[in-house]
Amino acid sequence: MDDPFQRWNLTPVINAAGTMTSIGASRVHPEIARLVTGLLGSFVQMDQLQTRASAVIAAATGADAGCVTGCSAAAITQTVGAAITGLDLAAIEALPATGERECRVAVQAGHLIHYGGLVSQAVTLAGAEVVPLGSAALAETWHLDAALEQGLAALVYVISHHTVREGELPLDLVVERCHTRGVPVIVDMASEYDLLGAIALGADAVIWSGHKFMGGITSGIVAGRHDLIRATYLQHRGIGRTMKAGKESIAGAMAALELWQTRDSAIIRTRESGILDLWEQVLAGVDGLILQRHDDWTGNPITRLEVTVDAGRAGLHAWELAARLAARCPAVIVRDDLVERGIVYLDPCNLDDADARQAANAIAEEASLARSRGDGCRIYWSEAKRGREATALAWLRQDDSQA
Ligand SMILES: *Cc1c(COP(=O)(O)O)cnc(C)c1O
Repeated sequence: MDDPFQRWNLTPVINAAGTMTSIGASRVHPEIARLVTGLLGSFVQMDQLQTRASAVIAAATGADAGCVTGCSAAAITQTVGAAITGLDLAAIEALPATGERECRVAVQAGHLIHYGGLVSQAVTLAGAEVVPLGSAALAETWHLDAALEQGLAALVYVISHHTVREGELPLDLVVERCHTRGVPVIVDMASEYDLLGAIALGADAVIWSGHKFMGGITSGIVAGRHDLIRATYLQHRGIGRTMKAGKESIAGAMAALELWQTRDSAIIRTRESGILDLWEQVLAGVDGLILQRHDDWTGNPITRLEVTVDAGRAGLHAWELAARLAARCPAVIVRDDLVERGIVYLDPCNLDDADARQAANAIAEEASLARSRGDGCRIYWSEAKRGREATALAWLRQDDSQA
């Protein structure tokens, strides 16, 4: 009974969605697993481990220093806490009560996204007050200047496919304006591949998830200015205690960063492009699916297959397809953030060839079943949207057998 899927009766998952924390983020690289296993049965001084992590993070990012947090959401909270308290240990213990300290934190309105949790809540957890800049699709220099004029503890800048990029203030401009007032800029780029750009532009703290593209253990990696990183790590004596990074997280993040820098991206690209070829072959014959290769929204070197579902011809809506795939065994999970526009995306980065083939066959089969049974196109988007509350509350519901 060494297999957890058998031991605990878990449904196997084929991940055609990319790195999604809701299905276990990513496959931990075996070398990372080995290094972490080497620590699990031992003791280590956490301050020393974090000192070594700082060196690894600094070397990988070009920053002064770094530290590891429980995850990126925790890193947002702890860096904001650091911007409020500095190295004042009493202030660190007092958070989220901020007393007379400056606690306003600016975020462009189009950056106030939901990554599974809210950026705004990760900020307010530290005791800060969020000051939204501009409107959803437009932030201007005068919105930033007005906020700076009234006083800010920090500005949080988010780089993600979830943000509204139309009309946003570019990072270099934000850094320049904030620095004239001594206000630190914290960049959340949890799932972006670029380790150097934001630090090079002068960001004071930059955040990545260790468990996303890097294939590490659940963790947040923070790189940045020496004093701000010290204050970020010191939050473990305060609010950081509720979002603790254990030795496995810290070592996992260090190993992930080191390994990430030696990856052969050409080999990875070739492998992923082979999977896209395979998907196109299998799905080209499915009526009502329009296929197109789609480069990543924020410029990460990932190409996905965009599958537009013409419901009339395919026999079911995109959201019905995604739900039926997820209900299979093994569950097939696709990227569904644009299903309301009739689109699902297939992401090759967490798949081997056999799983990739199984995912494509499952899509072809669900479309064919929907057509032959005539049981698709039953659920309109408004209904699917209404169902989301029930889905959110479904866990351990009394009237449900949790199969
Ligand atoms: C995933 C993500 C987060 C949260 O990351 P965790 O490490 O899972 O807490 C925060 N911000 C962005 C932009 C993300 O993509």
